[in-house]
Amino acid sequence: MKIRAPYLSVVIPIFNEEDNISELSGRLKKVMTEMDHTYEIIFIDDGSTDRSLAMLKQCQEETPEITIIEFNRNYGQHAAVFAGFERSSGEIVVTLDADLQNPPEEIPKLVNKAEEGFEVVATVRVKRKDSLFRKCASYTINRITAKITGVKLKDYGCMLRVYRKNIVTLMCASKEISTFIPVLATSYARNMAEIEVKHDSRNQGDSKYSIMRLISLQFDLMTSFSIWPLRMLMFLGLAVSLAGVGFGIYLFAMRIIMGAEWAVGGVFTLFAVLFFFVGTQFLAFGLLGEYIGRIYAEVRKRPRFVIEKIYSHEEEICY
Ligand code: UDP
Ligand code: MG
Repeated sequence: MKIRAPYLSVVIPIFNEEDNISELSGRLKKVMTEMDHTYEIIFIDDGSTDRSLAMLKQCQEETPEITIIEFNRNYGQHAAVFAGFERSSGEIVVTLDADLQNPPEEIPKLVNKAEEGFEVVATVRVKRKDSLFRKCASYTINRITAKITGVKLKDYGCMLRVYRKNIVTLMCASKEISTFIPVLATSYARNMAEIEVKHDSRNQGDSKYSIMRLISLQFDLMTSFSIWPLRMLMFLGLAVSLAGVGFGIYLFAMRIIMGAEWAVGGVFTLFAVLFFFVGTQFLAFGLLGEYIGRIYAEVRKRPRFVIEKIYSHEEEICY
């Protein structure tokens, strides 16, 4: 049992970050000591296959404030952060990536902002050091998300964030499996602030997100917070059908006015229209499939993650 709850909890998901862990832990410890608050650091080893877990244990020996949650396999960044949330007991909870793209030195700024009375402090990455593709994709996703949620934040993707305990409790009570934490938080927060933070290139290693994983993550974001895409699909279907009817009337009228030979000339136009309809239908099926797949995952009610073991200075729990 914990004797007393720390004021700050820092939650960091780890997936094959062996080359970043010791620098991260060192810089984080320095920042935390300077802040002069009681704190805990929760690392979640999301099924790493490199030496990450061993490195974390090594850091824990020097820093007793560290708790390590070991997953039995890889469940993804957001599941890992959830495990950290469930374990955290701080009044203020900070999330951070392990690759040092978010400098830990920015944490005090965020905590100060939260202390002004904000339940969630989000961040905008200034001069973001990511590929052009990632930046363009993020721009589009951020605009769409702002529209869907009605919360006008500039950057939903940056995981350097601060949450008040009540928001973390509410998020933990939300049992959906496919979710996107920064957007989930917006649905509970009464007041949010967004401040600018520095962004660096990845310290060591490669991004853990392939194109397919990124697409899946964006679908998580979209499908778990809105049925707006389905509604759009319905309107699109309606518009396409009306256009089809209009086109039919036009063809019929032209056939009467111009005669039967004219209609043969229009055969390619017909093909074009057909392809368009078929394409729209496939798009619609694909989108429905994404929703249905996620509903299926939810109804199976499998756990969001499975913890193998928790390493903590106070206790060692095996599962
Ligand atoms: N991460 C994780 N599980 C995964 C993928 C990523 O815990 O399946 C962690 C990773 O170790 C890092 C954070 O999530 O701490 C962000 O990952 P990454 O830097 O690869 O994402 P990007 O910056 O490319 O969006
Ligand atoms: Mg990164």
